Amino acid sequence: CGIVGIHSLSERNIPQDLFFPLFSLQHRGQEGAGISYLNNGKLVTYKDLGMVSDVLGRYLEEDRKSTVGIGHVRYSTTGGNQVENVQPIQASCNKGDISIAHNGNFSNSDFLKSKLTEKGAIFGCTTDSELVLHLIAHSMQDTFYKALKETLCYLEGAFSMVMVREDNLYIMRDPMGFRPLYIGQKDGFTVCASESCALDILDITDYRSVEPGELIVVNSNGIQSEIFATAKRKAQCSFELIYFARPDSQIFDTSVYASRLQMGRVLAQQDGDEIENFDLVMSVPDSGNTAALGYAKESGLSYELGLTRNHYTGRSFILPTQKKRELAVKMKLHPVKEIVKDKRIVLVDDSLVRGTTSSIIVKLLRSAGAKEVHVRLSAPEINGPCYYGIDVPTKEELISTTKTPEEIAKHIGADSVKFLPVDKLKTCFDKSEDFCYACFNNDYPVEPKTGKDK
Ligand code: 5GP
Ligand code: SF4
Ligand code: MG
Repeated sequence: CGIVGIHSLSERNIPQDLFFPLFSLQHRGQEGAGISYLNNGKLVTYKDLGMVSDVLGRYLEEDRKSTVGIGHVRYSTTGGNQVENVQPIQASCNKGDISIAHNGNFSNSDFLKSKLTEKGAIFGCTTDSELVLHLIAHSMQDTFYKALKETLCYLEGAFSMVMVREDNLYIMRDPMGFRPLYIGQKDGFTVCASESCALDILDITDYRSVEPGELIVVNSNGIQSEIFATAKRKAQCSFELIYFARPDSQIFDTSVYASRLQMGRVLAQQDGDEIENFDLVMSVPDSGNTAALGYAKESGLSYELGLTRNHYTGRSFILPTQKKRELAVKMKLHPVKEIVKDKRIVLVDDSLVRGTTSSIIVKLLRSAGAKEVHVRLSAPEINGPCYYGIDVPTKEELISTTKTPEEIAKHIGADSVKFLPVDKLKTCFDKSEDFCYACFNNDYPVEPKTGKDK
């Protein structure tokens, strides 16, 4: 998911201001979009299933004066694809009217849910984000701020969150820093968003990463920040840099583009002398583009745009069922025959999850006349689920849990398949120990807690 929070010292058209950064974060979720903002002192929420421009486009034609608001784009990890699960989630409780937008998953949500259900809580949707509102409401603390801080200490796993209550914008990031979050400011106008590309579009150039464990309050008195908790280690999601974030963004104080370029270079180094047997490098657009460019730069092979992408389709993986994903790949990518015919191709993509995308693409390239197809992935082999907000399917569906790279090559019809191993991926990051690689190496920074083990 993607989140945005805005506060302004003077009145502005906040719904319109929210539209643009949310539009920039569309790649982080295409199932639903929504905003909450203060309208004449009252909190209102508008959200629906669909893309940002469809759901929120109407705000471009209206002038609604406000000072604070939050927004969300949804991609489902917990909870199904239903309108009740679209965020922000607004509720009235003993601590006032609150709205929340959340990116990440709580790894102890089952545990917290069963505790709260025992106490009589009623859940209106199936996302884990609603938990936060329940915990705030159940808190015995006498102020909202104290109740919020208490709540944050119950939460485990991944949360980059924004919240609005009266004229206050609350911004917080979990102590391990799983999901990115940026904050920037210009002339009394404060914007926070999942990635820096969403601040760029509002011409906010003075920005920084919200720290892991940081809680920020923005209101008419200015900005207040504190560290509410520290963790033994950081666990920034390496998959954000490999795949999820936009290449023109900064996340985790790192350039996404530079990281991907380096991953491609290391992939080429790994191939060594084998490169002599290849004619050209191509990417699976768009997620493989930057790594493929890195591979080309390092290897000296020419980089060709051998697959044309139809831009009027969404991200294929993001679709909820396998059948829909298969059709989506064919609708999205088509080979350029005169480039691939009779060629020995290095095909760079970011990752193999189920292997659906690659097997269809390899087939397409072969029927366009490709002589050889060598698939290279800038992600390591995915070996386990993610409990922190990326939709990695169950172990059984992951192709790498049951097949070696050689078997995968056979399965998808490629001449060879090679991944970037975790230790080589680490060389692409500064402070590699501050990242999570759990879905690759099963070293989970926090174990998920279920409802049973109390
Ligand atoms: P596969 O077809 O192997 O199941 O999925 C691989 C493709 O989906 C890659 O091209 C990659 O760009 C994209 N992808 C890989 N992992 C993820 C993920 O966790 N979430 C989403 N949304 N897309 C992914
Ligand atoms: Fe990212 Fe994988 Fe860790 Fe999930 S398990 S946070 S996808 S690196
Ligand atoms: Mg892709």
